[in-house]
Amino acid sequence: MKIHEYQAKQLFRDAGIPVPEGILAKTPEEAAAAYKQLGGAIAVVKAQVHAGGRGKGTIKGAEQRGVELVKSAEDAARVAGALLGGDLVTIQTGPEGQTVKQVLVEAGCDIARELYLGIVVDRGYGKPVLMVSTEGGMDIEKVAHETPHLIHTAPFDPNFGLQSYQSRKLAWKLGLEGAAAKAADKFFRAICKLFVDCDCSLAEINPLVVTGAGELMALDGKINFDDNALFRHPKLVELRDTAEEDANELRAGEAGLSYVQLEGNIGCLVNGAGLAMSTMDIVKLHGGEPANFLDVGGGANKDQVTEAFRILLGDPNCKAVLVNIFGGIMQCTTIANAVLAAYKEVGFNVPLVVRLEGTEVEEGRKILAESGVDIINAEGLTDAAKKVVEAANAA
Ligand code: ADP
Ligand code: MG
Repeated sequence: MKIHEYQAKQLFRDAGIPVPEGILAKTPEEAAAAYKQLGGAIAVVKAQVHAGGRGKGTIKGAEQRGVELVKSAEDAARVAGALLGGDLVTIQTGPEGQTVKQVLVEAGCDIARELYLGIVVDRGYGKPVLMVSTEGGMDIEKVAHETPHLIHTAPFDPNFGLQSYQSRKLAWKLGLEGAAAKAADKFFRAICKLFVDCDCSLAEINPLVVTGAGELMALDGKINFDDNALFRHPKLVELRDTAEEDANELRAGEAGLSYVQLEGNIGCLVNGAGLAMSTMDIVKLHGGEPANFLDVGGGANKDQVTEAFRILLGDPNCKAVLVNIFGGIMQCTTIANAVLAAYKEVGFNVPLVVRLEGTEVEEGRKILAESGVDIINAEGLTDAAKKVVEAANAA
């Protein structure tokens, strides 16, 4: 689960991590009032969407950037007016952009240096890892690719947290001294603690700034939570903004399906995450591009499978569907009947390749064969992948 910058910053504030003062606004009038309330000469109006790269992104069909400095209440209202209701396109949103429904009006910060800070779970270490870099404010993926030696890392034990010797070392690598180094120790340990306490999967502050007065401050804030741990955090669940989420992924989630939208044109309906991954691999191996990842689960019922078809067939990019089922807990007859039920309900507007194996496979194949529905039967994974790629290419 993702949250907005303003929400992440509230969590930072609660954890004792310094952030600029800020006020959320939903109208230009509220933005003007927020500017006045902040009381400084300079403020920043920032679009709140679940995507990064806002500073360089623009509102579709306009010049307006997603983050802009303002110097008057009128200015704040003008920028808010240009952002609100518009679709912000950034390198992370895709060409359709994401609609801006609220803006954060924030006190302008006197920036001396822009640094980078991120925390992720590192499977190699089997621990969370704090990463910092002097190359803040820019594309960190590019830094990691071109100048990896400028990224400094410290894996830490979730039970004991980041240790002071680790934060001192990182502060030194960043060239922080005196009061700033001391502040960094407190800052780094606090964000690492927040990461563990909230079961985050990602926390990122880009830029982490050193102010003119030598203080550290989080100027941006991004947090993702581990969905599997959300049951432990009812307060965090309240921060969820479903309007920012992919409509298909949301629908699938409600039906208990695990779905990830992708860019390709081959819809995949598979049971089991491992089989779903290998299905995508083999589709790619034969020159195709999956339109989605979809795991209906080991014991999906007819309603879930029908809903899965609705989601797949509703994707305009989907040119062919591959159903790849290994009947373990699930019986192939269940899936065969679900395919027919889905056909009755939604109709198939694209070719359908079905590969069934496992429990009640003969009965399942028979049901499909005798149904009269136009289905391409496949024997084995390779055959299935070849047939569906061919069908999608012919479409
Ligand atoms: P994004 O990463 O989505 O582009 P950021 O929050 O990082 O958005 O903002 C982009 C840039 O705007 C920052 O790198 C920083 O230079 C500037 N900025 C953001 N917030 C403030 C602020 N409160 N005061 C001054 N400058 C800011
Ligand atoms: Mg940023």
